Amino acid sequence: NRQVQLVRRPQGAPVPGDFRIVDGRVPAPSEGQMLLRNLYLSLDPYMRGRMNDSRDSYAPPYALDAPLGGGTVARVVRSRLDSFAEGDLVVTPDAGWQTFAISDGIGLRRLPNDMEQPSQALGVLGMTGFTAWWGLTAIGRPRAGETLVVSAAAGAVGSVVGQIGRLLGCRVVGIAGGADKCRQVVEEMSFDACLDYRAPDLPVRLREAAPDGIDIYFENVGGAVREAVWPFLNNDARVPLCGLVSGYNGITEGTGGIHALLMSLIVKRIRLQGFMNAEHLDCFSDFERQMRGWLDAGHLRAHETIVDGLDQAPAAFVGLFEGHNTGKLVVRLPE
Ligand code: NDP
Repeated sequence: NRQVQLVRRPQGAPVPGDFRIVDGRVPAPSEGQMLLRNLYLSLDPYMRGRMNDSRDSYAPPYALDAPLGGGTVARVVRSRLDSFAEGDLVVTPDAGWQTFAISDGIGLRRLPNDMEQPSQALGVLGMTGFTAWWGLTAIGRPRAGETLVVSAAAGAVGSVVGQIGRLLGCRVVGIAGGADKCRQVVEEMSFDACLDYRAPDLPVRLREAAPDGIDIYFENVGGAVREAVWPFLNNDARVPLCGLVSGYNGITEGTGGIHALLMSLIVKRIRLQGFMNAEHLDCFSDFERQMRGWLDAGHLRAHETIVDGLDQAPAAFVGLFEGHNTGKLVVRLPE
């Protein structure tokens, strides 16, 4: 059983040397358990918080010298549970960075055994898509004709937010790193415009791209990008606060601006609301129905960056913070 383990807690940005690859024995399931073979591993920014020895993430910290946790799509190899049979395809919340895992079946979601693109169950049809859909519709409450700005627009969540925003009739402006990515966001993800935050004069370009101001800002990034966007928020704007990836490696903007930020919430009656996808799973089947409908009708495209082989997981994870991915980042393991 090949595993990726964390050998030391990253200082700042993660580096490949924080991880190690270990080969061990395939575990045997006891009564009431089953053996899973992971086929796809989801790599997500929140994992960086779990690498710290603190509770600054919404999930528990990773242990050192143990396999890292993470969502996967897996095949049941051997089952000693009545509810699952050999060959079943499932989504796991935390079977992690390893080839095989033991499960008691709790928290698993079944997939059609012959699902054509199982990796989508981690992306557009999984927690990523759900995060985008719930955050935008429940907190953003988009209305046709409004202007929606999305940060980390080319990423897993952002690319779905923008496409849904367009389907709901918004003018959608993305913000992403680099001219190539921005071109992709417009040409392949159907945003109306996309601005490169690494190029100079972001505020000037934002004013041009959102001449009527911003009604919804779907926040994935924080930091300098948020600062540039904030002055353009309209009265009664909504801000689904999804993530602040620019600060996950420990470098955060000063808190000097917090008073002005809070004051703007009052003056402009801005609704800023944080959320965690896992707390809204009662809406998951509504999401699935709508998302499948859009996908089947060709109204929405699933974007993925697929990396082959568990050995590549550490470098791919490091790349999340350097913007190497577009769409959902997953590692494919051989079946
Ligand atoms: P992405 O696929 O968007 O990958 C991260 C992207 O963030 C990178 O590709 C990069 O794109 C951008 N980025 C990285 N570092 C910086 C930086 N310093 N400044 C600006 N941009 C940066 O990841 P996800 O879609 O999975 O996650 C997006 C956000 O949503 C994260 O903040 C995550 O924590 C959050 N999230 C929250 C959930 C919730 O329930 N609240 C659930 C799932 C995700 P670029 O090239 O454009 O810089």
